[in-house]
Formats: sequence, C-alpha cells, structure tokens
Amino acid sequence: MNPEIKNCQNCKKEFTIETEDFSFYKKMKVPPPTFCPECRMQRRLAWRNERGLYRRNSDVPGKENEQIISTYPPTINVKVYDNDYWWSDNWEPTDYAMEYDFSRPFFEQFRRS
Ligand SMILES: [Zn+2]
Repeated sequence: MNPEIKNCQNCKKEFTIETEDFSFYKKMKVPPPTFCPECRMQRRLAWRNERGLYRRNSDVPGKENEQIISTYPPTINVKVYDNDYWWSDNWEPTDYAMEYDFSRPFFEQFRRS
C-alpha cells in the first residue's frame, strides 16, 4: 500500500499515513486514523492525569509504610514505586507481562488484562 494523504476529521489539516503505518494497523487489526498526529496527541493528553496528585503508600518491598506522592490514588489496585526503585534493576518488569497471541486481535486481549 502506498502512503496516503488524509484530511484530519478534527482540524481539517492534511496528514500522511505512511506505508509502514498501514502494515502496523493491519497487524494490530485497527482501522487507520482519521485524526492527524497532533490531534491524536491532544486527545491522548486530555485523558492523562498530570495534575491530580495523591499521597499513598509505596509498594517497594520493605518500604510499604513509606508515603509517596503519585498520580495514582491509593484506591486503585496498581503497584506504585518511588522513582529510585522504578529506575533500578531491583524489580522484574516481566512479572507484569502477559501472554500475547499474535493471531488474535490486540484489544480483545488487552481488555482482559
Ligand atoms: Zn488534526
């Protein structure tokens, strides 16, 4: 498939979808975007929490009673580490990995995680 020039549904500016992007969308079984990259970024950032901060306990082993500031409230069931621990090699990222079946749609599997 050749690169395609489209008009953004939101700002009406032209944007290009590259050949390799079409391959990616096909692989992920998602439709090509109708918004330009800038409008997609605005839409993503509108939902991103960078202002609401919560005091909560750290989930670093041995520091569970240490209070940290996080964008995730204590009521959400996710592990939250302080900066030093997050960037260290002291935790195993693959502990949070999941099996992925490339023959099935991405979002079908993502929703179940
Ligand atoms: Zn746009």
